Amino acid sequence: MGDITRLSAAELASSLSSGEISSVEATQAHLDRIGEVDGDVHAYLHVSENALSVAEDIDRRRAAGENLSPVAGVPLAVKDVLVTTDMPSTSGSRMLEGYMSPFDATVVQRSRQAGFVPLGKTNMDEFAMGSSTEHSAFGPTRNPWDLDRIPGGSGGGSAAAVAAFEAPLALGSDTGGSIRQPAHVTGTVGVKPTYGAVSRYGAIALASSLDQIGPVSRTVLDAGLLQDVIQGHDPHDSTSLPDAWPSMADAAREGARGEGLKGLRIGVLSDLLAAGIQDGVKSRFHEALDVLEKNGAEIIEVPSPHFEYAVAAYYLILPAEASSNLARFDSVRFGMRVTPEGGGTVEQVMSATREAGFGPEVKRRIILGTYALSAGYYDAYYGSAQKVRTLIQRDFNAAFEKVDVLASPSAPTTAFKLGEKLDDPLAMYLNDVTTIPANLAGVPGISVPVGLAPEDGLPVGIQFMAPAREDARLYRVGASLEKLLEEQWGHSLLSQAPQLGGTR
Ligand code: GLN
Repeated sequence: MGDITRLSAAELASSLSSGEISSVEATQAHLDRIGEVDGDVHAYLHVSENALSVAEDIDRRRAAGENLSPVAGVPLAVKDVLVTTDMPSTSGSRMLEGYMSPFDATVVQRSRQAGFVPLGKTNMDEFAMGSSTEHSAFGPTRNPWDLDRIPGGSGGGSAAAVAAFEAPLALGSDTGGSIRQPAHVTGTVGVKPTYGAVSRYGAIALASSLDQIGPVSRTVLDAGLLQDVIQGHDPHDSTSLPDAWPSMADAAREGARGEGLKGLRIGVLSDLLAAGIQDGVKSRFHEALDVLEKNGAEIIEVPSPHFEYAVAAYYLILPAEASSNLARFDSVRFGMRVTPEGGGTVEQVMSATREAGFGPEVKRRIILGTYALSAGYYDAYYGSAQKVRTLIQRDFNAAFEKVDVLASPSAPTTAFKLGEKLDDPLAMYLNDVTTIPANLAGVPGISVPVGLAPEDGLPVGIQFMAPAREDARLYRVGASLEKLLEEQWGHSLLSQAPQLGGTR
């Protein structure tokens, strides 16, 4: 057995079930890797003290002949936006430093039940607001491809952990791109499922009409293995869909066999391509489409006339919902409490706590959202943004009459430098131009690596989007492309990543 941390989750799962390795070995290898590189990367906010005993338990049950799930014993990283009973859950905020939840998020509970071994909690922008992980109250995560660059956000910790072989697989959340954009800049795979496909129960809410939980991985098949475990109805989430879902892992396997590509109509969003996309991102995107076309797909340009208003609408809807969701951090029910010197009224305590507990980006959005919702401005801001949201949904509906999936670059640029956009919120927001439309419409999206940009040698991803409930289509086309590109390159993209830690 070579280096265990280099195995995909699917490979690990089969080595575990054949008895070639134990879950304790798999878990220990990842803990060692974390010890080796996480001082540089800072993907984790907390490493689990229980991981090895959980792994031991899985090994014991396997030895006793118990019929375990196919992924039992595979390690998993968990974004800190998801609450866990055995590790603190901070959502990247001082407000929740050390907070212990009395229950597990549904996705965490289902992951545990399937036998995944939680390795730790991953870093993120505070309350999932950001595109770089620099807004974390606990310091930024760094991109394993270049430690001076951002790993994306808000789920930069999950993506960096997977890219740096500190976990084979991670859970993320995507409200405006926080799974797909980090995947794009780290050469990993990220999926935002259909809104309502995966339970949000126990995900610390950012914007409830946009939030979705999903997988980050190194292969499309691995993402499917995790989505299979977490998807499906949950009575604890009122927006959870009642649907029965097909296996996404099966869809990925079909895609890798080339099924579903012949005659597949792929719509290229020409309006999004006009939105200031870096040259190397564009060229890798078009090359990927060429590969799909050569293998039987049909490429069709489709308009999306209202997408240009998506960022503006999102940055009203999100702050509006966030300002309401974050009202629960009132110094009484959760987390930190700051009492002004000499005591104070309830209001003074609340205000001192929120002043100390929230970082500048969170305050900015609470102020924006409160303003957008206030009497006299509601119609002009929040109301108009909701109308734009409907127009964007109609653009999607019109496009999906003509095509099966839509394609765009996953983000406009490769990983930017730490600090580059930190003082320019608008520039940071504009980075979300490609990912936000899917959240506004509730449709699923996947980001799959398509190579390195020639000008800077950094990873680029292609995004596919499908109609709501058609997540399987994304896994099929994503896995087809992944297979075709790897055949062309003769290796996987991440095997090209600069080696961290010195020993590999
Ligand atoms: N970058 C987006 C934002 O700052 C994405 C957030 C997310 O998906 N959680 O709002």
